[in-house]
Amino acid sequence: VNTEHIDHVHETPLNVAWVELTPPHDKRRETAAYQRSHKFLVEDQDKSCVVCGVRRSTLGDPTQNKLHSTALETHHFPIEWSLMDAVDPLKVHRQYSQVIDRETLEAFIDSPANLLVLCDICHRSKQRGIHHLLAQDFAILPFLLDDYIVVADQVQAAQAEAHDEAVLKSEATQ
Ligand SMILES: [Zn+2]
Repeated sequence: VNTEHIDHVHETPLNVAWVELTPPHDKRRETAAYQRSHKFLVEDQDKSCVVCGVRRSTLGDPTQNKLHSTALETHHFPIEWSLMDAVDPLKVHRQYSQVIDRETLEAFIDSPANLLVLCDICHRSKQRGIHHLLAQDFAILPFLLDDYIVVADQVQAAQAEAHDEAVLKSEATQ
């Protein structure tokens, strides 16, 4: 793949600072409903990571497991368990008709409809995990060229800049 044209990256330092306000809630626990949904999606259905495409059944296949993931996991989306009490069931109903009140909302939270299948890397890693990326950076991951890194650490950013300089110099001497 010729990625020369995108090697001219520019850094956009992201000063991500926020305070998420979480209503008081019980300590997070894995409910029986969550465990059933997780097993259904990951084991019975063998669903792929929605970002990189690896499945539980293909973790051992290097051609399918390019990120060296070690597990398939499930992530609450769009409604985090901890924010359930801050959610208006009637607003959820607009997109998920099965939710009509507080009780059906609670059932929805741990159901497959509110769970994303993600491998451990796309779930929790600092560089591409949904827990650490801004929404726009996570949303584009399934579509990126294999070797493009959208969120770099400082060492990688320095390497990318050095590479840019080398490219610019060689272009200048041509
Ligand atoms: Zn993945």
